[in-house]
Amino acid sequence: MRWKALNLQSWGRTCSDSCLATRPERVSEAISSLADVDASGLLAHGAGTSYGDVGLNPGGRVLLTQRLNRLLAFDPETGEVVAEPGVTIADLLRVFPPRGYTIPVSPGTAFVTLGGAVANDVHGKNHEGAGSFCNHVRWLDLLLPSGEIVRAGPDQRPALFQATAGGVGLTGVILAVCLRLVKTQSNGMRVDERRIADLDGFLAALEEAEPGAHSVGWIDALSGGRALGRGILQVGRVAAEPAPPPSGRTRSLPIDLPGFALNPLTVAAFNALYWRRVPVGGRQRLLAYETFSYPLDALLQWNRLYGRRGFHQFQCVVPTAEGPTALRRLLEEASRARAASFLAVLKRLGDGRAGFLSFPRAGYTLAMDFPHRSGTLALLGRLEWIVRDHGGRLYLAKDSAMSPEGFAEMYPELDPFRAVLAEVDPNGRMTSALARRLKLRGTA
Ligand SMILES: Cc1cc2nc3c(=O)[nH]c(=O)nc-3n(C[C@H](O)[C@H](O)[C@H](O)COP(=O)(O)OP(=O)(O)OC[C@H]3O[C@@H](n4cnc5c(N)ncnc54)[C@H](O)[C@@H]3O)c2cc1C
Repeated sequence: MRWKALNLQSWGRTCSDSCLATRPERVSEAISSLADVDASGLLAHGAGTSYGDVGLNPGGRVLLTQRLNRLLAFDPETGEVVAEPGVTIADLLRVFPPRGYTIPVSPGTAFVTLGGAVANDVHGKNHEGAGSFCNHVRWLDLLLPSGEIVRAGPDQRPALFQATAGGVGLTGVILAVCLRLVKTQSNGMRVDERRIADLDGFLAALEEAEPGAHSVGWIDALSGGRALGRGILQVGRVAAEPAPPPSGRTRSLPIDLPGFALNPLTVAAFNALYWRRVPVGGRQRLLAYETFSYPLDALLQWNRLYGRRGFHQFQCVVPTAEGPTALRRLLEEASRARAASFLAVLKRLGDGRAGFLSFPRAGYTLAMDFPHRSGTLALLGRLEWIVRDHGGRLYLAKDSAMSPEGFAEMYPELDPFRAVLAEVDPNGRMTSALARRLKLRGTA
């Protein structure tokens, strides 16, 4: 196999990776690449939309999956599609909605690959009703570090499936995914938008939205005092009528903005405008699923907004009963730090999860972006403590700063995960920057 020196960067651009990369065109080439793997280890890499170091293997080898992007089979009776790991959610959305099927769960970008969606067991705005991505996976074919290819699913090698769903690429390379699509009436979403005055108002409004809806809240993370937690709630429901298709037009941010461009003043001004974009009495719109679900995908490379030094995303989930206190403490800490987060998102999660290290659990999830500056890592450390205090957890797909102790405390199914790794990869051939930072394999 051909390996080339490559510098990969995380989506948040705070982690980078000088590695040897190969980009197989066929599954057979992916299989033969295993023969070259030495002690520096291997990691699969999808679309690279994870914010932190979960998809990087500095000093080691990386297998880029984006050209393994064929649809292999589709059963129109059951809605089951079988696809290679580099197929993206955008690819599926181009093909299946006109045939009456759509994806059951999607994160906030359609650029993710199926391999990446499985390895982080991603969730969407409909998590309470639909569960996580791997709740809809019937089986997957996995290239184990030994070179053997095995099929795993909830009914077939369930422990291996649970270790691979949300298993951040450490059990091997996913070669195919069988995903159950869901029937859909139209591409349209009827979206209700309204202003919410404060955190208590937000929690009450999220509680009211039915679990089957797609609900997401934007929070003005700079506001404090009585306006702490003010924002806009969007609740989308599948519409019977079609919506105008998305224009498909994208723009690209051609340069890195200077580091000082996003500061508390500019972000406060943006937040005030964004808050006013929804009228006082609220509004309802008919939007295409893609327009509602992927607002950031219209601006390619939007991560350059944060300048060359990049940014961190902090995403936690806290149990429902802890929500009011924990979220208040987190928002107060962020607001006090004036750390200029203009992307802050609040959602409810249900119980649905498929893997030992899956992120979701019933409760509230809060995500905030912070530009990388002096003091940001200390702020992230304080936020981690608050989450630990309330029995919550941080999301590996977004993380770049969690402590190994915090990780072990937050993920109680780490032992069964490690037991599967010890069986399928006793020599630690699969590895990543995140796995080493968080001591994911334990001390052995
Ligand atoms: C704008 C934006 C919005 C987002 N919104 C959400 C959201 O709402 N919900 C959510 O859950 N996430 C969200 N994310 C995070 C994103 O969905 C996840 O990080 C996703 O896993 C990234 O997939 P990827 O293809 O980019 O994989 P990468 O980032 O390249 O890799 C992610 C992990 O998958 C592993 N992997 C990739 N391919 C394979 C394979 N073939 N075999 C084995 N392992 C593999 C990698 O080793 C790595 O551990 C968002 C990200 C962005 C940029």
